[in-house]
Amino acid sequence: MRPLCQFLLAVLLVGRVCADAVTVSTEAQPEGSQPVPEPVTKVLKGETPLMSPVANLFVHPLIAFPERAFVPGKDESRMDEWFITVGEFEKVLESLENKGYILVKPSEVFEITLTEVKFRPLDLPPGRKPLILSMDDLNYYPYMRANGTVSRLRVDDRGILWARTVMPGGVVRDDLDREVPQVLEQFLLAHPDFSYHGARGLIALTGYNGILGWPTQQAPGPALREAEQEAKRVLATLKALGWEFASHSYAHRSQRVQKFDAWSVSEDRWTAEVEPLVGATPFYVFPFGETWWKDEARWDAMKAAGFRVFFGVEPDSNLRWKDNLPILGRVPLDGRGLRHKFAKLNVFLDPRLVWDPSRPATMTYH
Ligand SMILES: [Zn+2]
Repeated sequence: MRPLCQFLLAVLLVGRVCADAVTVSTEAQPEGSQPVPEPVTKVLKGETPLMSPVANLFVHPLIAFPERAFVPGKDESRMDEWFITVGEFEKVLESLENKGYILVKPSEVFEITLTEVKFRPLDLPPGRKPLILSMDDLNYYPYMRANGTVSRLRVDDRGILWARTVMPGGVVRDDLDREVPQVLEQFLLAHPDFSYHGARGLIALTGYNGILGWPTQQAPGPALREAEQEAKRVLATLKALGWEFASHSYAHRSQRVQKFDAWSVSEDRWTAEVEPLVGATPFYVFPFGETWWKDEARWDAMKAAGFRVFFGVEPDSNLRWKDNLPILGRVPLDGRGLRHKFAKLNVFLDPRLVWDPSRPATMTYH
């Protein structure tokens, strides 16, 4: 049975929640911790971008356990600011469907040649508006795991995609309804017309902390081989479902912090460690939404590495062109936008209706 069928069957049979508890002793933890990735939303002064013919919205890993995210302390504000909960994401999907959006595959949206990229006409059902849903940092950095996201994705021997979480005290639980790909599959069971040609979305991965919760950045050896095999199983399942993949840089460092030479070295690690797992991709998602396309050295290096379609973070689904290659603004779907009811979100949803009441009533962002 194909993984998709197995997954759907499992959803039907097992239902929305499934947890098994075992002890955690064998759970390998990714090494190292980097500064928190935070998207930057800003209007680029002095420029009048075009509006993209395809809407772009992005999320981070979901807050799977709000009671672990919204705890007074140093991490509460960043969890509130940059993430949405499972319940909010479910409401977002309902809203997107109601507003006429339909998911499309980046690989179908763009016709890519060596020298240029064009938007390919899509024969969508009448009244539908194309949307690329992207998901950044599906790596599960330590601060995320410690504050309410799941810990990793894994696929079992039956081909079922689980979200595994190491809970306080070391108990491990597996769930079928705590992360974007799972929630989306369940939504599509009831709303198959929300996806065009089996589209799901674009997953943007860094490499410094491994991918999908597996420590693929570690030194060669049996543990690395195991992590790579586990990650490959997840990737194969996600691809079979319709997900596509992008680079999100290796190190998720700002241009200011990581100068060109160090960035270039770390990008080689993405090519060596991540690309063999996810496959070559023409898609690049700038960390923090930074405008690296204005940095000629980085731009040339990214082009030389084979990247052809670039994604940033902006208040609108903007479109720019450089060297016949598109640069797309993506609207962040996060707690900050919901809390402050950003008007730009209204084309997608009503923040008041999506809002998860488990969030703190007030919050100051640092
Ligand atoms: Zn990021």
